[in-house]
Amino acid sequence: MNFAVESGVKSMGSGVEMRKNQTLICAPLMADSVDQVVVLMHTAKLKGADIVEIRLDHLKSFNGRADIEKLIRECPLPTLFTYRPIWEGGQYDGDENSRFNALRLAMELGADHIDIELKAAHEFNNFIRGNKPEKCKVIVSSHNYDNTPSAEDLGNLVARIQAAGADIVKFATTALDITDVVRVFQIMVHSQYINLQIPIIAMVMGERGLISRILCPKFGGYLTFGTLEPGKVSAPGQPTIDELVNIFNLRLIDTDTRVFGIIGKPVSHSKSPKLYNAAFKAAGFNGVYVHLLVDDVPKFFETYSSTDFSGFSITIPHKEVALALCDEVDPTAKAIGAVNCVIRRPTDGHLFGCNTDYIGAISAIEDGLLGSHHGPTGAGSPLAGKLFVVIGAGGAGKALAYGAKRKGAKVVIANRTYDRARELAEIVGGQALSLAELGDFHPESGMILANTTSIGMQPKVEETPVPKEALRHYKLVFDAVYTPKITRLLREAEEMGAKIVTGVEMFIGQAYEQYERFTGLPAPKQLFKDIVN
Ligand code: NAP
Repeated sequence: MNFAVESGVKSMGSGVEMRKNQTLICAPLMADSVDQVVVLMHTAKLKGADIVEIRLDHLKSFNGRADIEKLIRECPLPTLFTYRPIWEGGQYDGDENSRFNALRLAMELGADHIDIELKAAHEFNNFIRGNKPEKCKVIVSSHNYDNTPSAEDLGNLVARIQAAGADIVKFATTALDITDVVRVFQIMVHSQYINLQIPIIAMVMGERGLISRILCPKFGGYLTFGTLEPGKVSAPGQPTIDELVNIFNLRLIDTDTRVFGIIGKPVSHSKSPKLYNAAFKAAGFNGVYVHLLVDDVPKFFETYSSTDFSGFSITIPHKEVALALCDEVDPTAKAIGAVNCVIRRPTDGHLFGCNTDYIGAISAIEDGLLGSHHGPTGAGSPLAGKLFVVIGAGGAGKALAYGAKRKGAKVVIANRTYDRARELAEIVGGQALSLAELGDFHPESGMILANTTSIGMQPKVEETPVPKEALRHYKLVFDAVYTPKITRLLREAEEMGAKIVTGVEMFIGQAYEQYERFTGLPAPKQLFKDIVN
């Protein structure tokens, strides 16, 4: 449904970009003074916004008609005026008459949209007595900062908003779990099917609701909010315009776009969306790759069971749970006991799991030992006969231990939970240590060390799993952590004379393989390297 063509768009933000949907990007503008808002309007246009939301409730001084006239006159984009009261999550704490008067003035003076809360809509309608300029669209909005109601309750809410005289329905709820968002998608799709001739803005607030903001063009949403700067949000979880346009390729999303993503907790640090979306765009592949902050993996797979949700990278702490949920698992992943990639078969929706961490990490370490950049060497691996110490016994730890063993190394596993180290050592035929024993462990020189725990990862960058002194016994030290690229462990290893291999190299290696499985296309290797390095 071509909602946005009705919106009276003055001009598109960046003008020349290709777009496959009509969903607008709206920049919420919050500032102390009208002059500051005017500056922000121009920034919004430069950044690629289609429309600006002027938050009158954030102005420290507000001079009615003169200010509204100026705001409309100077705005290079279509406008949406919002004067949000405290009782709906805004800043305005004055009387309703003054608030309604400002919104009525905005309508009369040429605003393209105004926003009125559902709770106040009836009163506002009485206040304006049906005098509404044709040009101005009234958004009737409802905000729920506690949760996301049932599909039935959301359906009733949309009906109430529509009955309150909305030209555009808006509701924002809060995601307690990522699966809450599906109900909002269902409402959007359902509204189109029943031919509800009314545009919908539907957002789910919070990090767990992020996909509602990115995927809304797929489900016909009228607009999505994008901020000018990170963190300068008008509601929790808003991405920046730059992220929407340049990382998630929002303009290229349509109803057929296949959804991929990284399932983890935490997950916001992941660079995978940047990598895959750039590659999808370069190849003309109709897909989008998003962060998926998942608490409960079984519930996630059960809820997002449509084949539109086509493939997933799996990260901390879900790699083992995900394996158990797959209908079919690649034998290597089964042996490792963890999957980092799950593909939903388009024909029957079956989940196929595999592990690309193993190839990514081992080939990066082999390259490091050989001092070159060719692929794994099979029988002639430089790992053969080496003592290979793996710190960690989770998904990445298992992949590294399994891979090193296959290459003929003697494997030692050290883990915080000793029992897990012992279990893994038994499976791969190696030795187990506690983390405390690692400092004094040096049965031979020229050993290889691989950290596969999150120790040293942002924000705790000052942490390291091994005392610096102990690093003198290692020929090569690898760290799976890739934020930051050079961890304290790697910095100290280099100072002690070891070669180092970063998690970035593993990350690129495992991503090549996943990309090819997701798309059936060869991975653009140079592009991946350029983006990550
Ligand atoms: P996982 O399955 O959850 O395993 C986590 C491991 O880290 C477990 O052995 C855990 O020990 C240990 N651990 C966690 N916090 C610890 C702490 N504070 N002190 C000591 N040990 C701790 O996670 P994963 O998927 O294997 O990922 C592990 C790390 O590798 C993450 O930093 C991830 O970002 C990184 N990684 C990087 C790449 C890449 O491409 N560069 C790929 C995969 C993973 P317990 O058993 O005692 O809980």
